[in-house]
Amino acid sequence: MNVSDSEVVARLLSDSGYRQCERLEDARIIFVNTCSVRENAEKRVMGRLDLFARMKKKDPGLKVGVLGCMATRLKEKLLAHPAVDWVVGPDSYRNLPGMLGSAVAAPLEVNLSLTETYADIKPFRGEHHGISAFVTIMRGCNNMCAYCIVPYVRGRERSRDPFSIEEEVKDLFAEGFREVTLLGQNVNSYCWKPDNHTNQGAFASDRGDRPDSLTPEDGQAPVTFAQLLERVAAISPLLRVRYTTSHPKDMQDDVLYAMAAHPNICKHIHLPVQSGSNNMLKKMNRGYTREEYLDRIAAIRRILPGCTISSDMISGFCSETEEDHAQTLSLMEEVRFDQAFMFHYSQRPNTLAARHYPDDVSEDVKIRRLNEIIALQNRLSLESNRADVGKVFEVLVEGVSKRSEEFFFGRTGTNKVCVFPKMDSRVGDYVKVHVNSCTAATLKGEIVTETL
Ligand code: SAH
Ligand code: SF4
Repeated sequence: MNVSDSEVVARLLSDSGYRQCERLEDARIIFVNTCSVRENAEKRVMGRLDLFARMKKKDPGLKVGVLGCMATRLKEKLLAHPAVDWVVGPDSYRNLPGMLGSAVAAPLEVNLSLTETYADIKPFRGEHHGISAFVTIMRGCNNMCAYCIVPYVRGRERSRDPFSIEEEVKDLFAEGFREVTLLGQNVNSYCWKPDNHTNQGAFASDRGDRPDSLTPEDGQAPVTFAQLLERVAAISPLLRVRYTTSHPKDMQDDVLYAMAAHPNICKHIHLPVQSGSNNMLKKMNRGYTREEYLDRIAAIRRILPGCTISSDMISGFCSETEEDHAQTLSLMEEVRFDQAFMFHYSQRPNTLAARHYPDDVSEDVKIRRLNEIIALQNRLSLESNRADVGKVFEVLVEGVSKRSEEFFFGRTGTNKVCVFPKMDSRVGDYVKVHVNSCTAATLKGEIVTETL
């Protein structure tokens, strides 16, 4: 999400005559894009700001702007930091060029918008130019998961105009990209309504390429996520389509059928569960039970055999007991997640949990439970990868492996990283790789010519 936002900022600034430089030491203005989801992420940013303050002492002309979620959360408090000249929240990036160019503009812009989607801004991909791109399809979040700060710092949910999304993806494909990941906090609630659409900056109505059947003027039905997915997938069979994040309470079968209908929609779903305990899920305000989550898993297995599933887990949420924790472990065993992102609970100011529930699981217990979750997931990931040894997968070549110049890496459609000798393949090619061995994190194999 932040990579995608930084690319929007880079476009706005490059259009105003600013140039991105390779090395920090060469910069005259430094922007830090920030995340507030966990306290550790914020601590890292504060460490960077201290470094920039030291740089500014030696070089008083250097300027620093803080962007993103911490800007909304901390506002003036950030301006008080000796490094900081501007504080600009996620919905105010259009103001940036004006702020930089003017001595009179206020250094703080953190208002959240009900409509801003940056639909008309073509992200400047710079160093991320290559094979795989992130495309933001919506901003903000309307859920109120008790632990989560996102709705407070990124505002209400709004869906981006599908025409501008399709246009951006077509351009990316023409530029040589071969994979897009559609991004939103809860993509399943993507819904673009033509008639009450108010986005400023959405594609101008005089665009010649807008399909007649979906012009806003004729009050057509809303565009759902499943429909958007199909439209993006139809751009080219050579374009891989991924998306994240799905929410278990909103993930309907229509998305699964859309995935089944298009071979180029990758067969991997990120479906964060957070906890396996109904008590915790209720307290987290997630809007589903363990049984409902397992029903969604069953639907994925039924409609998309072979689809991999990844998840997010939080250990040590407020009042979590050993029994609640055991339920998370048992759910993981039951689902057999292929991959997971795992965190220990970090209380965030002003969230529902911070206001209503004591953060009463000790740090030691949170970390011990997290380590148990990680150990189990390592085993499940290894088992999942071992089950792929001996199989052949189509892999999109993404780049040279970090370990060796002689090897490429890429991912399978099921989102597994695969490393293999280059042979005569090139970045951007689809190759068939026979998997010979694996670790919990990577498949290793070699290119074969046989058909799948
Ligand atoms: N919208 C997505 C992702 C939100 S942030 C979703 O609903 O899943 C990514 C992950 O960070 C979350 O899934 C959650 O597991 C974790 N997270 C969010 N707030 C957290 C907190 N206060 N402490 C620990 N982990 C948190
Ligand atoms: Fe946060 Fe929940 Fe929204 Fe995800 S769905 S961003 S966890 S509030």
